[in-house]
Amino acid sequence: MDGTRKLHIKSYGCQMNVYDSQRMTDMMAREGFEETAAPETADLIVLNTCHIREKAAEKVYSELGRIRQLKQAAAREGRKLLVAVAGCVAQAEGKEIIRRAPVVDLVFGPQNYHRLPDLLAQAERGAKVVDTEFAVEDKFDHLAPASAAATRARGVSAFVTVQEGCDKFCTFCVVPYTRGAEVSRPVATIVAEVERLAGAGVREVTLIGQNVNAYHGEGPDGPSTLGRLLRRVAEIPGIARLRYTTSHPRDMEASLIAAHGDLPALMPQLHLPLQSGSDGILAQMHRRHSRAEYLDVIARLRKARPDIAFTSDFIVGFPGETEDDFRATLSIVDEVGYAGAFSFKYSPRPGTPAAERDDQVEEAVKVERLARLQAAIDRRQSIFNEQCVGRTFDVLFEKAGRRDGQLVGRSPYLQPVQAMARAALIGEVVAVTISEAGTNSLFGTLARPASSRHRAQLASLET
Ligand code: SF4
Repeated sequence: MDGTRKLHIKSYGCQMNVYDSQRMTDMMAREGFEETAAPETADLIVLNTCHIREKAAEKVYSELGRIRQLKQAAAREGRKLLVAVAGCVAQAEGKEIIRRAPVVDLVFGPQNYHRLPDLLAQAERGAKVVDTEFAVEDKFDHLAPASAAATRARGVSAFVTVQEGCDKFCTFCVVPYTRGAEVSRPVATIVAEVERLAGAGVREVTLIGQNVNAYHGEGPDGPSTLGRLLRRVAEIPGIARLRYTTSHPRDMEASLIAAHGDLPALMPQLHLPLQSGSDGILAQMHRRHSRAEYLDVIARLRKARPDIAFTSDFIVGFPGETEDDFRATLSIVDEVGYAGAFSFKYSPRPGTPAAERDDQVEEAVKVERLARLQAAIDRRQSIFNEQCVGRTFDVLFEKAGRRDGQLVGRSPYLQPVQAMARAALIGEVVAVTISEAGTNSLFGTLARPASSRHRAQLASLET
């Protein structure tokens, strides 16, 4: 390869896909590919797809329609543009993608992206390549780490995949089919990756997995839990903040809950999907816990870390959901007092048990319930944000803001915080007093410490 080729990756969906796309970019850098944000200049376009949202496959096909024109334009210029579809839609659709969209040269699933250089070589020889078998080898063993410069360019917060796949088989979800069974990376490889990130200036790490708290990777004394892994990662010099997502309420085991009380670096914010507040619907979703058990987990976490805040995911209009079931979901929004939540209308995923049911809820009912639920969530989120005004938070500054002299960072609760501060504070955790809560951001000023010496230091950092 001649070192001048360009790669454009478009990522859909969750952080797992963002992480996978970064690792593909790092791997292809070794093959002489440079990342470009401009698809019209690319020699290889990868769509890293997600199957969670409604009509996910149709959205990919319409994007491929646009890419077909780019491929034709490249051919007119005498260039060859190769097109790959990766991720969960690729896993679910397989060779159907190439049948429906002949513009595509390669299709590969989330467990196979480490094979991209080999698959690309086959496609360059003119083959149409489909690789959606679950790989027997561990893809993480075959991936190149990012260079320090690439890591720095991605900012002071980073994701690290620690676990993939899911064994839960919730009746609405395709993940166990597209990502396969749960697999956890060994503790030592995760620690090495976080040490590399810290060495390149990363201050905050979010450990990610489809069912992250089912983590059971090999540690020095046998299989580890996520709680033990977090304790180990918290020891790495330079890492100021830890988070993890996405968790299943059933897997919030004692050492993980205790970690929330013991580790100052573990941020007091947890995304804990509930999906429904109704015991009947939870059972039909095969969530394996009741409303009371979920509330018990929340109570235990609050006991360990009294300032913890929760966010969640909800589905409305699951097959058979009655108005009473839905009201149980509405009521738990206030009972928990969420700081925010994502809510969706149920939509059938082919191949999942709930999609086969003949008691689907009418679309108009789903729309109306979703509006009511979102209003309740928005109200709770506003209350939570308003309660932040007047408080002083540690904020990790991430980048320049839109206004001159302004920086944007994140509060412990993941809210964006904007404050006037010098660029030298990017990557630093700084106390900020919140003066105003907007719809999506908080605004504040660097906190005023008591002593005059500290005030003088602060004055030199503010713009
Ligand atoms: S636990 Fe999450 S990823 Fe696993 S099947 Fe249920 S919803 Fe899907």
